[in-house]
Amino acid sequence: MNTSGKINTIAYTITVSGLVQGVGFRPFVYRLAGKYGLNGWVMNRTNGLIMKIEGPLSSIPGFLEELQNNPPAVSEIEEITVKEDYPDELTGFTILESQDSTNETSEISPDISICQECLADLHMQPRRIEYPFINCTNCGPRFTIVMDLPYDREKTTMSPFIMCPSCRAEYEDMPDRRFHAQPIACLNCGPEYTLVTGNREVHGFAQILESAVSIISSGGILAIKGLGGFHLMCDAGNHAAVDRLRKAKRREGKPFAVMFRDIPDVRLMARISAEEEKALLSWRRPVVILEALTHPVHGISMGLKTLGAFLPYMAWHYLFFDRSDIRAVVLTSGNLADEPIIIDNGHAIRELKNIADGILVYNRDIHNRTDDSVVRVMAGRERIFRRSRGYVPAPVRLPFDADAVFAAGGELSGCFCLGKGFRAYMSQHIGDLKNQETFEFYEETFSRFRSLFRTEPRMVASDLHPDYLSARFARSLGLKLTGVQHHHAHIASCMAENGLDEPVIGLAFDGTGYGTDGNTWGSEFMVCDYRDFKRYGHFSYMPMPGGDKAAEEPWRMGLSLLYQAFGENIPDLDIPLIRTLDSGIVTLITHAIRKRINCPLTSGAGRLFDAVAAITGVCVHSLFHAEAPMKLESLVNPHIRDHYDFEISADISFLNTIVQICNDLKNRIPPDVISTRFHNTLTSASLEMVRRIRNETGIQKVVLSGGSFQNKYLFESLENKLLKDNFAVFSHTRIPCNDGGLALGQLAVAAVRSRE
Ligand code: ZN
Ligand code: ZN
Ligand code: FE
Repeated sequence: MNTSGKINTIAYTITVSGLVQGVGFRPFVYRLAGKYGLNGWVMNRTNGLIMKIEGPLSSIPGFLEELQNNPPAVSEIEEITVKEDYPDELTGFTILESQDSTNETSEISPDISICQECLADLHMQPRRIEYPFINCTNCGPRFTIVMDLPYDREKTTMSPFIMCPSCRAEYEDMPDRRFHAQPIACLNCGPEYTLVTGNREVHGFAQILESAVSIISSGGILAIKGLGGFHLMCDAGNHAAVDRLRKAKRREGKPFAVMFRDIPDVRLMARISAEEEKALLSWRRPVVILEALTHPVHGISMGLKTLGAFLPYMAWHYLFFDRSDIRAVVLTSGNLADEPIIIDNGHAIRELKNIADGILVYNRDIHNRTDDSVVRVMAGRERIFRRSRGYVPAPVRLPFDADAVFAAGGELSGCFCLGKGFRAYMSQHIGDLKNQETFEFYEETFSRFRSLFRTEPRMVASDLHPDYLSARFARSLGLKLTGVQHHHAHIASCMAENGLDEPVIGLAFDGTGYGTDGNTWGSEFMVCDYRDFKRYGHFSYMPMPGGDKAAEEPWRMGLSLLYQAFGENIPDLDIPLIRTLDSGIVTLITHAIRKRINCPLTSGAGRLFDAVAAITGVCVHSLFHAEAPMKLESLVNPHIRDHYDFEISADISFLNTIVQICNDLKNRIPPDVISTRFHNTLTSASLEMVRRIRNETGIQKVVLSGGSFQNKYLFESLENKLLKDNFAVFSHTRIPCNDGGLALGQLAVAAVRSRE
């Protein structure tokens, strides 16, 4: 193949696909070629980049090895192809301008936490000393500022800022770390902060930083424009400030996330495993749910044994901690109640001025709203509970073609999904669609994803629940529609994420989902593939006195289960729930259950947790979604191994469990023992049911999905039991097991059904 005069010169054309644009990949290739003495060029192209390299044969293996194994931290290589080619007798190595204009898209990088080199520059690079908008090809805002593709400065919210000659020179200098860094900026040409306090405006970053530190140190509250939206911030160690923030946000019970200065400071408050440390330090900088050492942390963990912790990810966060003695701050989304996180300066100043003592804004727009992402390490792997900043819009690769399918998702944790070829683009976490502003955010994001990823949906998938706002939206599009059962979608989402395409045993445990028999489901044992499912078993139906209200008030489910177990003898029970409740209410609700008045049936695992939390007095009234199951989980003592009785026939009855729990309560057995035994009962019963299904079907693969598997103990102990019994177990890592992942399953089912 060697046709040139240089006998030892060999040439290759190499393509790299995946997330390789906007993450410093071309400068990396440039440096690598230099290191190995190779000539050639590299350029961006559709779906990745292409390069030609020429040089001595002996240099090629090392180059390829590093290309594959040492790429920039943020990049994600999907595929590398290497083809031998004719040498062009090139000299030197160049980065060429891209020139494609097809309808295909490259991938957009998620936002990246400030890198170590930029942190160092913050203290020594003259044009960027304490310049909070510092960034480079390895770090900085991405998705949040992108308005359109290709990813060029003019298509981002950096477009109004004209580069100064020095920035321009770096931008055009191939070996520079800021070569083609689209948000490149410095003190002379980039965005600026302004601090608004009352009617006063503070300018100049040094001044602003001083004022901000003084507000927080004196127990005040700041509203701060972050990467994907506004935050509210206060000193996490100042009880009065935390209480004030909680009241102001009208958020009575939900735990706050805490940003710590550094890992050693996190260690003072929480246990951290190696995997958790990795998650905290990852460039995505999610909130990581840890086990708290102090229980409870005042005003923050709200009775739970967990602590949501994260580390600084913007220059501003670092500079703040540098300048103050504060080691940890509450950093919670800047919004009111269920509204989406605020992104607009004017809106923030209007809405947050009564809450915050100062509002820190900057003059670059946030185009795509993102919340902080939330993860938890379970069974040694990072699991994502809320997928947004740092994760979106990276696609999920599919084992099948889902082109032009739009899946509308759920309702409470709204998140949709758009298929393009063998990729699924999940939207960021959107929130509860029942809120008007949140629903508008959903519609807006849908139209943005459509144009950003150049995809016009031809087919729509949605939940079977006729009243889900996402399902209504799906119907309004007037396209061919596939309805997908909620729990089938959960299992299909986990199958798609794991690349499975065969019949599996699926366990979908959650709070609620519309069932095909008119009841509310939520503890489903099914055999399914993408096409269809067969429901093998579930927890026995429980009446939900008051309908949907029962999902918000655990005591209703408590009474429901007590009535099923003890009938009319409820008032005689010497247990916390009955002692707490007004006897008139008990009479009223038992009457409703007896007469089946507004008592729809549910098999929701979440409702069973609610019932047990209420009966034991652990959580009788709930202040936020899923509080009761979270409180029960917080009580678990993993050294307790025994469980209560249950009965399996077509379904699994826990009435004996309830009777035994009441006995334990009468005998003053502590709640941690009861809670653990209850958890163990669920996992033992589930294992037994799954064994029966295996005996009948021969299927070995078990897929776990649904929001209840955010319960670490439930998930880990069930997975353990299944593994010990030689099942292959599949679970979520990259998309949420809760309804935030539902859309992916809907998409999978619709795409596969449409093949036929
Ligand atoms: Zn950087
Ligand atoms: Zn500049
Ligand atoms: Fe669900």
